[in-house]
Amino acid sequence: MTLPDSPLIVPDLTPLPRPGRGLLRPRELLENIELITPDFLARRGLRGLLLDLDNTLIPYGSYEDRAEVIAWAAELRRAEVQLYLLSNATAKRARFWLDKLDFAGVGMAAKPLQRSYTRALAEMKLRPPQVGMVGDQLFTDVLGGNIAGLYTIMVHPIINNSLPHTHLARRLERLVLKRYGHDWYGKDRRARENNK
Ligand SMILES: [Mg+2]
Repeated sequence: MTLPDSPLIVPDLTPLPRPGRGLLRPRELLENIELITPDFLARRGLRGLLLDLDNTLIPYGSYEDRAEVIAWAAELRRAEVQLYLLSNATAKRARFWLDKLDFAGVGMAAKPLQRSYTRALAEMKLRPPQVGMVGDQLFTDVLGGNIAGLYTIMVHPIINNSLPHTHLARRLERLVLKRYGHDWYGKDRRARENNK
């Protein structure tokens, strides 16, 4: 009696399906906001931006002037790009920066909840595909922006702040981005820095 050939065992190498429509997936990752120019926006069909405040435009918690950000915002507005601040910071902190930045917006936005996104789009009179969401955090800025159907742009945080919950969020962000093929805080970051 001969034994039947043992069946060839083929390991299942099919990648796991990506979650949903990738609600945590930023459309683009940029080192900083200054890379967003009128031309960058025009090529993507974007006519407005919702902007996070802390660690996107201004170092976390800072009240120090940032002339380069004010000039950047002014250049976009000259190109008729609508800007709207969507910040989870206190209303008082948001108001301080809105006066300097000279565009509309709110604090206490409770991102990723949708109410503030909906109101911002209504005030800008733009449709979701015409608007980008720019922020440094995956679980607030990017998640909320993707749910709203916006073009999500994640920027590297200006400073590393040492709050424990921020550390945890950063570690989780890194895991999620790795799943999408970006080693955001690891070798990709080093490569970007070496290219400067
Ligand atoms: Mg932020």
